[in-house]
This record gives sequence, structure tokens and C-alpha cells, in this order.
Amino acid sequence: MRAFQLVEPQKPPELREVPVPDPRPGHVLVKVGGAGACHSDLHLMEAPAERLPKLPFTIGHENAGWVEKLGPGATGFAPGDPVMVYGPWGCGLCANCREGRENYCQKTGGLGGGLGGHDGGMAEYLLVPASRFLIPLGTLDPREAAPLSDAGLTSYHAVKRSLHLLGPGSTAVVIGAGGLGQMAIQILRALSTATTVVAVDTAADKLEIAKRMGADEALVSGDQAVTRIKDMTRGQGAQLVLDMVGVDPTLRMAAQMARVLGHLTIVGLGGGALPVDFLSPPHECSVASPYWGFIPELMEVVTLAQQRKIKMLVEHFPLERAGEAYQLLHEGKIQGRAVITP
Ligand code: NAD
Ligand code: ZN
Ligand code: ZN
Repeated sequence: MRAFQLVEPQKPPELREVPVPDPRPGHVLVKVGGAGACHSDLHLMEAPAERLPKLPFTIGHENAGWVEKLGPGATGFAPGDPVMVYGPWGCGLCANCREGRENYCQKTGGLGGGLGGHDGGMAEYLLVPASRFLIPLGTLDPREAAPLSDAGLTSYHAVKRSLHLLGPGSTAVVIGAGGLGQMAIQILRALSTATTVVAVDTAADKLEIAKRMGADEALVSGDQAVTRIKDMTRGQGAQLVLDMVGVDPTLRMAAQMARVLGHLTIVGLGGGALPVDFLSPPHECSVASPYWGFIPELMEVVTLAQQRKIKMLVEHFPLERAGEAYQLLHEGKIQGRAVITP
């Protein structure tokens, strides 16, 4: 089969011919319907050798498709079933996995297919190591649903853990209205009717999309956005600021937008650092850097999508054009999510 693989550090991935994997006991072979091109893959492609897992491996960690073949002893699904693939593959046995937090597995670090160690979904088939990582999609099309497994789940987890702050009259800010940010805006809308949702981005087209997705206001990134948030909140700042970019300027802006007792969530892997002192971020504003989300949360994301409460803006690319999709993502020219359809 054809697979889009990272072969050498800091070189574009290549389309290569590899064998179709045979599912071992407990494993499930999935025929890939769609694999989302996440901005984290661009970070992977730019990373130096010492920060990369063993090469080569097939990229693509946002996957959905149809069950092709069950390994001996694998149960719960039948060939042809449309499924979402939960990405952070834990060991299932450590303390965090037993609590359902496989993204924080103490053994695997929650690294799943497409991030090293295991091949990902930018190939015709994907080998999934346990059927508990599969979630039935019902009527959803895997080609549309694939990005929900990361852009959807990561945003859902980030919002849900701070939902207690989002009471009537509250304000939530989403910095970076790309694949993840657009999901976060819709999820904030779906989970909290009481919250004013504000999107912040550098790109005019993303701000336009953010408004279509339910943002009450869409602001150009910078000092004037901080002033506007302060004006909207009687000088107090937002209860929740989600930074989906994570570079120095957005982290600084996020700290200025958050309020006392608020919450600043760093989701973006932009490589920036947040200076922390007694006054900034504001007093008792907590800071967290969540990674991905939990299996039950992915089931909730799928339910929201089935109810048509969230929907990713998807552009499809065949496997031969995966490189072009990432180039467009790098240039900021993907409106929502590029999905590779092998
Ligand atoms: P994307 O490219 O689709 O979107 C990024 C958005 O940020 C774009 O709309 C861009 O215009 C905007 N942006 C860039 N610089 C900005 C600035 N200075 N101010 C405001 N907006 C700015 O990317 P994505 O796939 O949505 O991923 C976003 C980030 O989240 C990436 O760093 C990715 O690696 C990370 N990520 C983290 C997790 C996690 O578990 N924590 C999971 C998935 C992705
Ligand atoms: Zn990702
Ligand atoms: Zn574990």
C-alpha cells in the first residue's frame, strides 16, 4: 500500500510503498477514510533529529475509516463498521490509563499512530492496537469526521475542564481560529449558552469563518484585542483564554486578557514561553497545557457531531497531494482542516 512517511528529519515526508499490516491478536486493521493534516505535523517536520522518534514512520494522527479486519480475539466491531480512531494509545494498565486518561499514559506517553512508535493514518490502512481505541461513527462519514479525533477532542477537553468558569455573563477567548480554534468556538457555543465567545486571529479570512462558526466577536491579534476584551468585561478580563497558537506574542496577549481567578490554557505548540510573576498572569489565574483528551470525551464529541452541533470545515486531498496540503497549511491557506483521503 502507499503511505506518506517522515523519512528524514527536517525534510518533507515522502509517499512510499509499504506492506499492508496484518492484525496480530487484539489488533484491528482499519481501512482509512480520512486522515486530518494537523499543524502538529508541521512542528514534527520541522523538528531536529534529537526531538524525533525513530524514523521512518507514517504520519497522520487524526484518523477515521472502516474496520477492515479483526485480529484474533479482537471483538466489538465487524468488517465495514465506520469508526473514529482515538489517537493517544495508552497501555491500558497504568494508573492514568485505568482512570481513562490514556493521553497521559505513564508507559507510552500517550503517543499513538502517526506521532512515532506506530504508523499513522496517511496510508491506505492503519493498524490500531486495541478495539477500545475505536468509536462507532454511526451515520457520520469518516472522511468528514476524521479531524474530530484531534482538533475536535483536544478542543473539547480544553473547554470541558474549564466549564465551571463559564457561567452566565462569562467571556471565553479563543486565540488562533484555525482547525482547533474553529472547533473550540463551536464547542463553547454547544456547551455554554451563557458565554460570550471571542475569536482572535491574525488572518481576516479566519476571523470571518470564526464568526460563521458562532463567535460573537472576531478581533485582530494584538494590543487592540486586549483593550477590546477589557472593555467588554468592565476591565476584568475573560474567565477562559484558550491559546491555540502558543508563541511568545500570543501567550503574552493571553495573560493580559485573562482575569483574576480565571484560566489560561495553552494548547498551541508554537514553542513560546509564558513569563510568570506575582502580577502576571492575574492573581490565582491558573495555567494548564492539556494534551489531547480522554476516550469518553471523544464519544461525546462524536455525539455532538451526530447532533449537527459541531462540524469541521473540511477540504479533501488524495494521498498523492498530501505534501501540497501541508504546504497550504504552512502558508495559512487551509480554511478549516485538510483531510487526506487515501
Ligand atoms: P492551524 O494552522 O489550523 O491554525 C492556526 C491558526 O492560528 C491560524 O488560523 C493562524 O492564522 C492563527 N495564528 C497564527 N499566528 C497567530 C497569532 N500571532 N495570533 C493569533 N492567531 C494566530 O493549526 P491547528 O491545527 O489548529 O493547530 C493549532 C496549534 O495547536 C498547533 O500549534 C498544534 O501543534 C497544536 N495542537 C496541540 C494539541 C494538544 O494536544 N495540545 C493538539 C493538536 C494541535
Ligand atoms: Zn494534532
Ligand atoms: Zn498506561
